[in-house]
Amino acid sequence: MRRHAYVTLVTNADYAMGARALMRSVALSGSEADRVVLYTGGVVPEALAGIDARLVRIELLPTSDAFNERHGRARLHAAAPFTKGDKPPFHTPLDNFAKLRLWQMTEYDRVVFLDADTLVLRNCDRLFDYPEFAAAPNVYESLGDFHRLNSGVFVARPDLATFHAMVQALDRPGAFWRRTDQTFLETFFPDWHGLPVFYNLLQYVWMNLPGLWSWDQVKIVHYQYEKPWQDHDKADRLRPLVDLWHAYAGEGPVPRLSDLPMPG
Ligand code: UDP
Ligand code: MN
Repeated sequence: MRRHAYVTLVTNADYAMGARALMRSVALSGSEADRVVLYTGGVVPEALAGIDARLVRIELLPTSDAFNERHGRARLHAAAPFTKGDKPPFHTPLDNFAKLRLWQMTEYDRVVFLDADTLVLRNCDRLFDYPEFAAAPNVYESLGDFHRLNSGVFVARPDLATFHAMVQALDRPGAFWRRTDQTFLETFFPDWHGLPVFYNLLQYVWMNLPGLWSWDQVKIVHYQYEKPWQDHDKADRLRPLVDLWHAYAGEGPVPRLSDLPMPG
């Protein structure tokens, strides 16, 4: 058994589409590590067909009713509005916390978690040498973004004691994690290690910080907010990135990164 894995999470058929393209991208990156999709009962079996990965059935975390209500979609959006972009209708904030289940995967020494809306564009196996907890900053608009991590890509060390400590810390009376797992992980690992931003290059960088875009340096692109498989109002401005995702989602060839256009 190999002791390294790239792991993603899917709780419905929409994110399973993301996971299919993502796992193909990891395979094309030439990695020897395992590929794992954690999925819940909310995913219809047809949606998982043909995904090139180990499929592991999980349950959502057994959080309290009060916790679940506070983190319900309508309540969370009202208490902590999203002002920078739109979350798709199939995004259920509460489901994000199931990411923490990867700490139960003790058959692996190191895991790289990837959101289902990411693509691995170059081999990232170096990440398995990073310590826990390593993530890239949440950069897509301004310098202030460096204060926060983005939880769409991170390096973790599965460990049951860590998992239990996390579940305890998560569902405290009155606890409200405004950006769900992201806020929680930032709080649980205040001394997080920073990864280069190119390990989690957010799609809004293309529009808001075009000077940071680099096809030479990008390792992982992350379609935060609107998803490339949705019809959405930013798709035209993000066209080359949307087309790139569709190339990975299909079965044909994927473009060479050096052939892609630059923003602007
Ligand atoms: N996710 C899921 N179902 C949901 C919400 C989230 O499977 O209803 C998983 C999926 O892997 C997704 C990740 O959690 O990529 C985080 O959500 P998303 O990527 O939509 O958040 P964003 O990157 O836009 O903040
Ligand atoms: Mn994401």
